[in-house]
Amino acid sequence: MSRITVHRARRVHTLDPNRPEATCVAVRDGRVLAVGTLDDVSGWGPHDLDERHADRVLLPGLVEGHSHLMAGTMWQHAYCGWYDVPDPDGRIAGGARSLDAVVGTLRAHAQRLSDPAASVTGWGLDPIHFGTRGVTRADLDAVSDSRPVGVLHGSGHILYASSLALQQAGLLHTGIDHPGIPLGADGLPSGELRGPDAMMPLLPAFGIDRAFLGGNERGIRAFGRLAARAGVTTATDLGATLADDELALVQRLTGEDDYPVRLVSVLRTLGLRPADAIDKAVALRAHSTERLRLGAIKIVSDGSIQGFSARLRWPGYYNGAPNGLWYVAPETVTALFRGGLQRGVQVHVHTNGDEAVEMVMQCLHDALLACPAPDHRFTLQHCQLADAAQFRRMRALGLCVNLFVNHLYYWGEAHRSRTVGPDRAERMNACRTALDCGVPFSIHSDAPITPMRPLFTAWCAVNRLTAAGRVLGAHQRIGVADALHAVTLGAARTLKLDHEIGSIECGKRADFCVLDDDPFLVAPERLKDVPVWGTVLGGRSFQALPAA
Ligand SMILES: [Zn+2]
Repeated sequence: MSRITVHRARRVHTLDPNRPEATCVAVRDGRVLAVGTLDDVSGWGPHDLDERHADRVLLPGLVEGHSHLMAGTMWQHAYCGWYDVPDPDGRIAGGARSLDAVVGTLRAHAQRLSDPAASVTGWGLDPIHFGTRGVTRADLDAVSDSRPVGVLHGSGHILYASSLALQQAGLLHTGIDHPGIPLGADGLPSGELRGPDAMMPLLPAFGIDRAFLGGNERGIRAFGRLAARAGVTTATDLGATLADDELALVQRLTGEDDYPVRLVSVLRTLGLRPADAIDKAVALRAHSTERLRLGAIKIVSDGSIQGFSARLRWPGYYNGAPNGLWYVAPETVTALFRGGLQRGVQVHVHTNGDEAVEMVMQCLHDALLACPAPDHRFTLQHCQLADAAQFRRMRALGLCVNLFVNHLYYWGEAHRSRTVGPDRAERMNACRTALDCGVPFSIHSDAPITPMRPLFTAWCAVNRLTAAGRVLGAHQRIGVADALHAVTLGAARTLKLDHEIGSIECGKRADFCVLDDDPFLVAPERLKDVPVWGTVLGGRSFQALPAA
């Protein structure tokens, strides 16, 4: 029989209400053997006492229920966002607070590229922070005369392209009639490409192709460091293509003993026929390992609210922008739901606007009538604008929800003044309503859209402060215990892993988040500032290294 290791800490918050606090956790074979005092856990026999965390506080390993491996890979391109954010190694990347600053960032990045014809790629740009002005190809033409320039919008749902990029893609001509390609006064594309249909043909020219998104070894390793730094032991790649070569790479990397995070990789259905998507998910399920979980699928139904491409119900966008884009037909959603219900394939659905939520719930209602199935746990992702009646229907349909509360901080002011207005902004990411209605819920970062830091995400749910310091939606605030539940057991439940992770109790994986302070004792306004030492994954410690 293998050895028992007892981890002793200042305090262990188990999130198991039967034994909420302890000082010792005994671990055998990577799993929790016992929780309690040293005396309690010693009854299992001889053990090694590990006291390296004796002054620290243990939580269950945090679970990021909606992120992307891109959070590791995108750092190979130029960060053009408004906010200062940490990179995977903890260095702070400064925000660009004007369009001129964005151009400067891209120029500096171009100068570091050795190939004189290489394209210049940026990410994270959101003109909503610059006032009313959008970004045009003329703006990006200022970066380089000789290189095509492309910049992903902060939502990931829009690409801004320079004139040369459009020309090389055969798009710089008049007569284009496409809902995702707005035209300028000259009848030529303005440079904004909205939605997957418009932007995807150009992405490979900017190095954002399948191999980059799903199979970039350097990026997948960076993602692991990022997770450990945030106290995360299970993270998602919510929307992967998982071709054979990509699968082989994530299998190899997550199979290494020192890869620091358990990865839930969810198959993207875009471009697949529903029956093929379900078949592929079932086939992938057979390849699941302890560190790599496969077999669920993801549908994207609309765009983003801050990019004005999400589908909103009446009365639509506060600033009068036209309604957003549908990414998928209801018939396709219903077919995927029916296939998923019949064959036990869990479905995650990106729904940003409340009209998208409405459409998807109708499809699930229809599919459930044809194929009733217990405990399907289909999960609405983002679901930022749903109202109380919609939450009551989610409960009736057996849906879970994963709310994008980081938006309250990063885009709260813009939602109030531009996208949905002061009243609807207060009900955004309605954690309190989810709790009151009994809808199982989690909260997330959608990294790289916002930084992966679940303690910050929990802070957003507790305080609901915008970047300007305004409380947005006081009624929807939740307590620290509920917020920490959402980033552990709540997220585990939306991933159908709550029997295995999310709390520290006998039989579960020995996954811990190791903190230098106690999140239950600090002031709720300071929850985001609790220092993360690192993690323990399956009994093995991973220290977040200081910034280089
Ligand atoms: Zn996402």
